[in-house]
Formats: sequence, C-alpha cells, structure tokens
Amino acid sequence: MLWFTEHWTENVGLTVRATEVKRIQSKYQEILILDTPEFGKMLVLDGLIQTTEKDEFIYHEMLAHPAMLMHKKPERVLVIGGGDGGTVREVLKHETVKEVHLCEIDEEVIIVSEKYFPSIAGKLKDPRVKIFIEDGNRFLEEKKDYYDVIIMDSSDPVGASEVLFSEDFYKKVKQSLRKDGIMVAQTESPVLQENYFKKAYSQITKVFRNVGVYLAYVPTYPSGMWSFTIASDYVDVSSASVNKSRIDRLETRYFCDKIFDCLFALPKFVQDMLKKP
Ligand code: SAM
Repeated sequence: MLWFTEHWTENVGLTVRATEVKRIQSKYQEILILDTPEFGKMLVLDGLIQTTEKDEFIYHEMLAHPAMLMHKKPERVLVIGGGDGGTVREVLKHETVKEVHLCEIDEEVIIVSEKYFPSIAGKLKDPRVKIFIEDGNRFLEEKKDYYDVIIMDSSDPVGASEVLFSEDFYKKVKQSLRKDGIMVAQTESPVLQENYFKKAYSQITKVFRNVGVYLAYVPTYPSGMWSFTIASDYVDVSSASVNKSRIDRLETRYFCDKIFDCLFALPKFVQDMLKKP
C-alpha cells in the first residue's frame, strides 16, 4: 500500500491509497496506472489524474452529450486528446455518427488504456473510429469545413496541451467545422484554476458568436467543480432544444434530460467570473 498525492495547487491536493502502481515513460509524459481501493484503476499523466474507473462516466458523458445533442444530425466527429477512449465511447452512443476521428499526440496513452482500462477504451476498435497520432493543432491545419462536432478532451493547459487553449487554435477549430458545427472543450476548474477557466472562455468568445459554459461534479478533478465551454457560430447553444427521445436512448448514468434543461444554470460567482472586466 502507498499513498499517491496529486498536487492541485501549491497548497492543496488529493491523496488516494494505491495497492499497485505501474509506471511507463512515453516520449511525451510519465504514465502511471494506479490500482486504488476507492476509485478503481486510475490513469495519471505527469502526476495529474486523467481518469478513474469510478468517476470517468461523469466527465465523459458531460463532455460529449450536450454538443452531440445540440447538433441536429452529428455524423462526423473529431476528438482531440482523449486517448483513454471515454469520449469516443460516448460519441458512438449517437446513432447518426458515421465517423469519429481521434487525434491523440501520445500513442502510449491509447496502448495503456486499451490494456488496463477496457471499460473506457473498449470502443476504440469500432470500425467508425480512425485514430491519428498527431498534435491536434497541426492536425486541424489539414481539415477545412469537415466536422459536425469537435471535442477538446485535452490535459491541463501546460506542455503539449497549452496550444489547445489559444485563440489561434480555436480559429482552426472553427475552420474545420461545417457551417452548423459545434465545439466543446474541457475548460478546467473555476474554483482552483480560475485563470485558465477565464482565459479559455475569453479566447473562445473572440472566435465564436454563441458561447455557453456549464459545469459538472467530477470528484477526482481539482475541487470537484469542473467546467466545459461549448460554442458555435450557427447554433444558439444557450437556447438549443432537443427531442427528449434522443436523450432517453443514450444509456447514461449522470447526464439526463433534467441536466440538459438547466445546463447553463451557473452559480452566481461563476457567472461573475465570465463578465467582461
Ligand atoms: N479528461 C482528462 C482531463 O481533463 O484530465 C483529459 C484526458 S485525455 C487522457 C488528455 C490527452 O490529451 C492525453 O492523453 C494527452 O496525451 C493528449 N494531448 C495533450 N496535448 C495534445 C495535443 N497537442 N494534441 C493531441 N493530444 C494531446
């Protein structure tokens, strides 16, 4: 038995007990696979928890479903990052999907996830999925007017992920979307990463006409309160409605019609963070 601590800030962290630790050094990062009594297996990249068997469904469902549902008929979807496969699994629950491209910079994350996290990565072999081992920023340079939905399932904005939070990158995302396309990004914790959260929101609002922020409670992410920013030029995301039967068919454990109905109900202090200075 040993204790693993993720340092959320200089002053606070999350400590979990692990019965076993495997360590792999990839070209890009240190990958740990922890066996923990509380959260099941955990994937940790460069000391930061990416996903756990116990709570991964919350993040993956909330990242994928709102954008997928706000699009009338999502057929072509791109996931950037997301090498654990959880977001791809959720995307494939939508019957209209014909192709999912996964652009992950680190092939080792995919190999490790398929080996140790089959319940998360199990759909990566679906024939509709095509995997590109590449930097998401470069990948988008090749694609114009192609995707219905683009999902940024990136690690924190440091190192290789930093570029995925920039205005230039969001411009490329917009060019790669079809006219009625929608993007969504994980945008960190408003409580412990307020600056990253506000910066991502302000960069996205510079590029897209309609932008909305919503939250979910993810126990193993810093502070538990996690944000997502969704944007589109064509779809007015804040008033988008959806046929309830599409939600009912999804087989989710966290996301549901009631959450969709009040998706953008933000606590007042978070609303204040998003007001222009
Ligand atoms: N849910 C997670 C979170 O918020 O902690 C993110 C999960 S996913 C494993 C993040 C992935 O993004 C990592 O596997 C990492 O290798 C990948 N990644 C980082 N920078 C990237 C880039 N520039 N292009 C593509 N993938 C990138």
